Amino acid sequence: MRIDIITVLPELLESPLNHSIVKRAKEKGLVEINIINLRDFTTDKYKSVDDYAFGGGAGMVMMIEPVYKAIEKLKSERNYDEIIYTSPDGEVFGQKMANQLSMLNNIIILAGHYKGVDQRIRDYLVTREISIGDYVLSGGELPAAIITDAIVRLIPGAISDEQSALSDSFQDDLLAPPVFTRPSDFRGWKVPDILLSGNTGEIDKWRQEQSEERTMRLRPGLLEEDIET
Ligand code: SAM
Repeated sequence: MRIDIITVLPELLESPLNHSIVKRAKEKGLVEINIINLRDFTTDKYKSVDDYAFGGGAGMVMMIEPVYKAIEKLKSERNYDEIIYTSPDGEVFGQKMANQLSMLNNIIILAGHYKGVDQRIRDYLVTREISIGDYVLSGGELPAAIITDAIVRLIPGAISDEQSALSDSFQDDLLAPPVFTRPSDFRGWKVPDILLSGNTGEIDKWRQEQSEERTMRLRPGLLEEDIET
């Protein structure tokens, strides 16, 4: 899989995409992630990529031309399954969407900035708009990093024990069960006996019950979604 992220702040993406599972997935050749600096596509001598909004009002707008040039250059080199724009008014990101996106070959993620990108980019080039939640961040870099991380850990082979990703919260509309590690007794705070029993059948059953109980208590809406789908 290849993920190309277009941004005005490449530095913001360096650390989140160079550690842990994402780093290992890149090293294993499972994913190629390219950070594209939008300023490389402007002819402006100050490298600016924003301009005043038509009609006035506060805030600058990401200009159409550098974004168009960056996307067209990438598109001239390969086909893309999705050109994603991160936006607070997009579809809300979730595990189902992460699963779908992890099965694609090539995607572009355009990280917005300022008041957002010129609407014509959204109308004519973007194929999908994704929000990471109902709040406004300063830029699309953190959303792009979040979307990328969630996708990459789902690529087969990215996590050594594949079951580990499959048993995470939301994969089957359930929250994950509680986890414990040594010591089994810390100052009288004890690990449930069943987990020390060695009876894998009973442990699986307990974990399933815990997942269902947690989901019912904390996120009952997930169970309703499960019934609807
Ligand atoms: N004026 C925009 C609005 O009210 O919808 C917000 C612009 S925001 C300051 C700058 C950029 O950050 C957006 O264009 C978008 O790319 C990104 N962004 C901010 N919040 C986001 C969110 N919740 N999900 C995805 N992207 C977000």
